[in-house]
Amino acid sequence: MDVSPVTARSDAIVIGAGFFGLRIALYLREELGLARVTVIEAESTAMERASYVNQARVHHGYHYPRSILTAYRSRVSSRAWSDEHSPALYTSFRHFYAIASTFSKVNARQFETFCERIGAPLSEVRPPQQAWFSPGHIEKAWEVEEFAFDARVLRTLMLDRVARAGGVEILHNRRVARIESSGSVVSITTADGDVYCAPLAISSVYASTNELHRSAGLPLIPLQLEITEMALVRVPDQLRNAAITVMDGPFFSLMPFPARGLHTLSHVRYTPHARWFDSAEAPDPRPIASRVDLAAQPSNFRPMIADARRYVPSLADLEYVDSVTEVKAVLRLSDASDSRPILVRNDAGIDGYYYVLGAKIDNVDDVLEELSHALVQHGRGVKTEVRQ
Ligand SMILES: Cc1cc2nc3c(=O)[nH]c(=O)nc-3n(C[C@H](O)[C@H](O)[C@H](O)COP(=O)(O)OP(=O)(O)OC[C@H]3O[C@@H](n4cnc5c(N)ncnc54)[C@H](O)[C@@H]3O)c2cc1C
Repeated sequence: MDVSPVTARSDAIVIGAGFFGLRIALYLREELGLARVTVIEAESTAMERASYVNQARVHHGYHYPRSILTAYRSRVSSRAWSDEHSPALYTSFRHFYAIASTFSKVNARQFETFCERIGAPLSEVRPPQQAWFSPGHIEKAWEVEEFAFDARVLRTLMLDRVARAGGVEILHNRRVARIESSGSVVSITTADGDVYCAPLAISSVYASTNELHRSAGLPLIPLQLEITEMALVRVPDQLRNAAITVMDGPFFSLMPFPARGLHTLSHVRYTPHARWFDSAEAPDPRPIASRVDLAAQPSNFRPMIADARRYVPSLADLEYVDSVTEVKAVLRLSDASDSRPILVRNDAGIDGYYYVLGAKIDNVDDVLEELSHALVQHGRGVKTEVRQ
């Protein structure tokens, strides 16, 4: 058996086969017309990390009362996203938002004003759903229109598009360890020593961005990283076609998780198991890529449900199934405002190398737009774009 390292060349390399990586590969192939695009992925399957392990919310803006720009952008981008990925959109449920009576960073009136400003309709919750919310703990609740996505259908959709596009090859089980400049090309080396070269390379590895840059000796970006757990639960019949989001502070969300036919329960206080800041000034070389470490986390379901049932007492009848755990990455600048900016940069000192960070699924078009601006400048110095 030949075990000598591979050396292969293509027109562009994308590192990471998450939703963003696949969408970028399609953009390079279909819109820029590059003939051969290689996607290099560490896992054995595409879209298995944060693109699968998330709340599955297609944000319509309601979630960001402290960042009006992010909220407004969400309203615009979620429409385009939903049209483009309509088979993956899950709409068979009613979504209720509620403001907690105490410890909320906004009150009901402020939330209503905010929704009016971003043009997000609210309908006052009526019986029988009104009775779900404990009057002692909830100031007010509304029904809204905000959908979810099915991560498995989304993956099928993306892989079908990749197959139809032709010219995009996804290589699995290859973890990129080095990114170097080699004459006029970018040279990518995997942990196994295989080398892939292309004039253009784009990494889209989300929470692993600093880990990749650290291993490649490239600059780090200021990131807040969190090990996050979402409990997968079976809900009582009355909640089967419902989602509940209690805002705005240390509260919880119950969202459909269509990929498993269950719901996720997440809680602002108990979903993060650990949180740290990673930057050049405060490096923290935690081995966050390891799935084993994530799976070994003990569940916080008990404290999550103990708190959530105070706001919606019928949640006491939830049945815990298991948990999914993933590392969440938030750009440091959005910590206080709760905004979700994207990042598109080529300032790592390697001509032809770009790195992106997509904060939520629906802002993929913002990433593509900034990337296309940046590519116009390709090879002509630094272009940095951060959009709220
Ligand atoms: C708990 C949680 C809840 C969230 N809820 C929502 C939500 O409700 N709605 C929403 O829109 N967004 C949500 N998000 C954010 C959303 O999940 C991410 O913005 C999105 O999935 C990022 O996609 P991605 O393709 O960049 O990352 P990923 O899907 O993580 O893909 C990155 C890929 O890169 C690969 N990779 C990493 N390092 C290397 C390497 N060195 N070499 C090769 N491959 C590598 C990984 O294996 C992975 O497949 C949530 C995130 C979390 C963690």
